[in-house]
Amino acid sequence: MSKTDVIIIGGGAAGLMAGATAGELGLKTLVLERKAKPGRKLLMCGNSRCNLTTNISEDRMIQMFGRPVGPFLEPALKAFTPSMLQRWFAANGLKTVVKAGNKVYPHTERAMDVLNLFTDLLRDRDVSLACSSVVQTLEKSRGGFRVTTDNFIVESKYVLIATGGISYPKTGSVGDGQVWAKKLGHAVEPYRPGLAGYEVDPKVIKGRIGKVYEKVAVEVMSGGKVLGETRGVYEIEKWGVGGTALTDASRIISRDNLKKYSLKITFFDGGSEEIQPLRMRPVKEAMVTVGGVALDEIDPKTMESKVCPGLYFAGEVMDVDGPTGGYNLQAAFSSARLAVAHIGKRCGKKGLPALDAPKAKSGPGRRRKR
Ligand SMILES: Cc1cc2nc3c(=O)[nH]c(=O)nc-3n(C[C@H](O)[C@H](O)[C@H](O)COP(=O)(O)OP(=O)(O)OC[C@H]3O[C@@H](n4cnc5c(N)ncnc54)[C@H](O)[C@@H]3O)c2cc1C
Repeated sequence: MSKTDVIIIGGGAAGLMAGATAGELGLKTLVLERKAKPGRKLLMCGNSRCNLTTNISEDRMIQMFGRPVGPFLEPALKAFTPSMLQRWFAANGLKTVVKAGNKVYPHTERAMDVLNLFTDLLRDRDVSLACSSVVQTLEKSRGGFRVTTDNFIVESKYVLIATGGISYPKTGSVGDGQVWAKKLGHAVEPYRPGLAGYEVDPKVIKGRIGKVYEKVAVEVMSGGKVLGETRGVYEIEKWGVGGTALTDASRIISRDNLKKYSLKITFFDGGSEEIQPLRMRPVKEAMVTVGGVALDEIDPKTMESKVCPGLYFAGEVMDVDGPTGGYNLQAAFSSARLAVAHIGKRCGKKGLPALDAPKAKSGPGRRRKR
């Protein structure tokens, strides 16, 4: 058995950012990843171009996450804002670029470069990354926590769970973290699909398969009321309907647990249609998971468990989900940094360096009059 300052379980977006941040603080850190390589879902992000965040203010982002996620993430998003995220990547050697819809990508538009940046940072900062290490159990021990993998046992005063949701389970996120959290006293919100398409009556798609409507507005209607509106793309697929406007609408439906609803689709170049989906695609095929470790038992200022001190959470293992456009990676990165900053403080480390915007140079026109 060996001891470390912090054990991070999960080498996805949140776990890798947590590891890089722990290294920045000089914490003795071990990242455990079940797959042979880390970041499998990260590599799929944004069609392998990796939409890192959206270039908007943190206040707007909080609003876009909606309730209950936005208010919960507020301290994390204010501590590591979308613009700080872009400066952090640039400072670590990967410039970012803002594309249509304010979507931010690495300038190379390759998710692999994002993953390489993280693994280089872990190596350079002496953070141990143990791949092919499937964590089986996480229990309280006298000094903190005991983590049992299929090959070894490790202990640490602090543990950060970053095992993700249950969508795309082949990438490694299968819901283990939620099981351990439950055993340690946490409530887990039921899983629902976030950012999913819908199966519809074949009549809806007949003669239109493959058609993409670039600009539509979608109103989610239930009980004669409009419960939310989204904008974006509408795509007709072989299996049903999707596209960003419709998948963003699925978050509203899942969050409100709507059983009966319809989608009113208005085309920007004229006309509209209303569809009543038969069902949403399953959560395993959704891009994100709604549900997970309940938010009211996690301190939003530190990401520490309120029921099991020393236990921290980051990313999609929590009941956190956002719209398409980089919100979900921002949530993973911001929550990870906040959690590790707090662990660092408890281990007596100095705070993280500021990532303030560079001060505007005072040019001739801007000089103050004396
Ligand atoms: C196809 C697709 C495209 C997407 N594109 C974008 C995008 O462009 N922008 C965006 O913001 N979001 C995007 N998302 C969502 C985003 O990928 C997730 O929200 C984000 O990856 C969540 O990060 P995470 O670290 O919480 O979880 P994950 O990335 O799922 O990482 C969890 C990690 O924990 C590991 N793990 C799980 N259990 C164990 C265990 N028992 N022991 C050890 N390790 C374990 C897993 O193997 C995995 O590596 C996309 C999602 C999908 C599916």
